[in-house]
Amino acid sequence: MQLINGKETSIAIQDELKIEVNKRVAEGHKRPHLAAIIVGDNPASRAYVGHKIKACEYVGFESTLVELPKTTNNAKLKEEVTKLNENNAIDGFIVQLPLPDHIDAQAILECVDPSKDVDGFHPVNAGKLSLGLPCFAPATPSGIVELLKRYHIETEGKHAVILGRSAIVGTPMTLLLSRNSNPGNCTVTMCHSRTQNLTEITRSADILIAAIGKTHFVTPDMIKPGAVVIDVGINRIADASRKSGSRLTGDVAMDQLGSDWDGHITPVPGGVGPMTIAMLLKNTLQASNA
Ligand code: NDP
Repeated sequence: MQLINGKETSIAIQDELKIEVNKRVAEGHKRPHLAAIIVGDNPASRAYVGHKIKACEYVGFESTLVELPKTTNNAKLKEEVTKLNENNAIDGFIVQLPLPDHIDAQAILECVDPSKDVDGFHPVNAGKLSLGLPCFAPATPSGIVELLKRYHIETEGKHAVILGRSAIVGTPMTLLLSRNSNPGNCTVTMCHSRTQNLTEITRSADILIAAIGKTHFVTPDMIKPGAVVIDVGINRIADASRKSGSRLTGDVAMDQLGSDWDGHITPVPGGVGPMTIAMLLKNTLQASNA
């Protein structure tokens, strides 16, 4: 079993970004500035935003956190988005998801100025991605492409199977791996909850990407020997041996593969998650260069 270490790779990318920022600042440019809006007090969302702000500090970006109460309504949230759109000091910003149920998340994401949409969730960026035009691509699938590149994993002509068709992971992942580039040029099969003969399909995958959010859904019998397995899932399970009483785990039953399994795999945690932050920072640097 060969581990694809997202944590290490993320730090390497952040170190490269730090050098780039220092160079730009020495040349008289301003520091890139990322803002994040968070609504409510969802502990996981707070932790994710906290990691993003900390990463900004590490690479030398400015950061701004806009914290709004859970009771914030659509109009107030749109007002805050508009303020960030119009604030020339801010290069890019994100609205941390999920938003409370009473908020129309899609309508809010559509208010973000596409040139500051470093999450790549605005329909303009999603449309450009599907046409192969320059744009902000969502950070999680971009991070996976970066991992494949840095681990010298051949993608051309390979069969990539993607489990999940969400707008933030599965769909952009399909677009990125099928485009005519390197990494890319895969033959992609996208699966979802209505897919039939799933095991037959996953067993034919040279590259298997699991993004469904179901603990250990992908078992060894679903994996082709020697495959590259990318586990996007983040699932919390009970673990009495931990002080917190729980731990995070992925969509792939990695423990069942055994150390002599002949393939590549991303662990959870420490795989795709840290890459998402690195790619968000990369998008912000790109926004500040525009
Ligand atoms: P969604 O819930 O939006 O999408 C899940 C997808 O999985 C859907 O397309 C669904 O199909 C599909 N699915 C569900 N059950 C099955 C099944 N039995 N067989 C095949 N497909 C199935 O999730 P996200 O894409 O937002 O996230 C997926 C996972 O990745 C989650 O665990 C999330 O926490 C994690 N994640 C991790 C990130 C990171 O940085 N590491 C970033 C973003 C997400 P259908 O469309 O038919 O319902």
